[in-house]
Amino acid sequence: MKCPYCECDDSRVIDSRDVNDGVRRRRQCLDCDARFTTYERMMPASLFVVKKDRRREGFSRDKLLSGIRKACEKRPLPVGTVERLADDIENELYQAGRAEIASSIIGDMVIERLRKLDNIAYIRFASVYRDFTDITDMKQEIDTLVGSSDEAGKAAGQLSLLPDERPKALAGWHRSRRK
Ligand SMILES: [Zn+2]
Repeated sequence: MKCPYCECDDSRVIDSRDVNDGVRRRRQCLDCDARFTTYERMMPASLFVVKKDRRREGFSRDKLLSGIRKACEKRPLPVGTVERLADDIENELYQAGRAEIASSIIGDMVIERLRKLDNIAYIRFASVYRDFTDITDMKQEIDTLVGSSDEAGKAAGQLSLLPDERPKALAGWHRSRRK
């Protein structure tokens, strides 16, 4: 089991307990001393994701990862953050022990975590996953973020807000404003 922080191969188990139908182990990296948690459990035969149009497809960690990775692109996040986030969500999904789960619930799980992690990544992800009905709320949220972070961001030499997504997102806001 590789340390998610330094990728060292050696860790020791400092706590181990049965949870549901698996084992949760608290580990400490022998190299950097970071602590992390692993779950060991039987993989359910399959976990299906139910999409908005009711189609089902097998849960894909890669898909989850690439969605989060896209949102976090060029953000100043520590190495391994995206993977940890995906692991965390995957664990929670399998812990729930259900055969299928709505894609919107997975989206909400990502949004909830990104909100605490990075404002820009959060807005990027939410703008892709949330319905246009939420767009007014989102605009308010962005206005708040822009107002509070634009000056500070420039001073810190951070990337400007949503350079790539701006055209698409703005199209949505105009649409909702015209109503
Ligand atoms: Zn380590």
